[in-house]
Amino acid sequence: MTPATGLASVALPSRRTELREFAIPPCDADTGWLRVEASGICGTDVALYAKGVPEACVLGHHAVGEVVALGDRAARRWGVHPGDHVVLEEYLPCGHCAQCRAGRYRLCPDTDLWRGGRRLGTVGVAEAPSLWGGNAQYLHLPANAVLHRLPAGLSTALAVWALPLANALDWTLGAGALQPGEDVVVLGPGYHGLAAVAAARHGGAATVLACGLASDRARLRIARDLGAATAETGQEAATLRGLTGDGLADVVFDLAGGDAASVATGLALLRPGGRLVIGGIKSPAAFELDAADLVRRVLTVRAVRGRAPERVAQAVAVLGSGGAGLAAVPTAHVGLDGVGEMLDRLAAGQGPDTPHVVVRPWPDGEETL
Ligand SMILES: [Zn+2]
Ligand SMILES: [Zn+2]
Repeated sequence: MTPATGLASVALPSRRTELREFAIPPCDADTGWLRVEASGICGTDVALYAKGVPEACVLGHHAVGEVVALGDRAARRWGVHPGDHVVLEEYLPCGHCAQCRAGRYRLCPDTDLWRGGRRLGTVGVAEAPSLWGGNAQYLHLPANAVLHRLPAGLSTALAVWALPLANALDWTLGAGALQPGEDVVVLGPGYHGLAAVAAARHGGAATVLACGLASDRARLRIARDLGAATAETGQEAATLRGLTGDGLADVVFDLAGGDAASVATGLALLRPGGRLVIGGIKSPAAFELDAADLVRRVLTVRAVRGRAPERVAQAVAVLGSGGAGLAAVPTAHVGLDGVGEMLDRLAAGQGPDTPHVVVRPWPDGEETL
């Protein structure tokens, strides 16, 4: 059954949000509607909002909810039924390029935000049926949506970790090629930094050291709850020496989004054969690499964004079997009418201690799927 109308928090180019009610047209054979139960706010949302969205749109691309209306062909293509709970990927891939045919949606030109691509949470409300983002009661499931079924019994707050954890698993086990027993450093204890701690622990890392600024103290405390040792910026090598003896690690994740200094720190912490994984865009973005040093120490430098779809399935499985400790991370809930204020706080660096900020579009949202 297609609902008649739904509320949404609409982000405006003037860096404000307003609550609007939208009519919900019936879906066609290839599309559907999701009743959104929770939608995570991530750094991308904050950056889009703080810069001023180019046109009015519903932000939110970490959406979890229940399929409530579904066309015949969509049901067959996605292998879901009305009543199923799913997590969506943000990608809106073309489906026919070489990258899409190989399942690499993040590399499809149509999903590349830096070259005019589109994703859920960025499409304007001017384009029918307007509800293209997770900060809403209902979300349009277009024909090219990428969705993954969720197991029964998973709490919505934990399910919202699906994409950050999938990214972290991809970056840790994929790009970082983490092997059990290796030592890991995570620079930057933000949303993805904490997910990387959980993924590294899940991957069998012997030592995980999470590092951040003095102002990150609350998040470093969460990292400790996830099983990491912690250090303040500048103390990484000294702290690591007490943990690993040589003061070095096999994999360093640079998720600080800072500048060239974090890349230099990361490289200096690597053992021979080590891997530096850079996630997040730096400012300034340029940094120097000493090729001779890379060759002599046989280092790998990888840059990452997003994830392969199979990592979402893996993340959902991890969440379904306990969540690699992420259930211990506090959740900050916000209603649709509080989204603007929360984005203002986050943009000003005055967000809650926890990076897990979840929009609940229904006043009495269920706690478990
Ligand atoms: Zn995101
Ligand atoms: Zn494509």
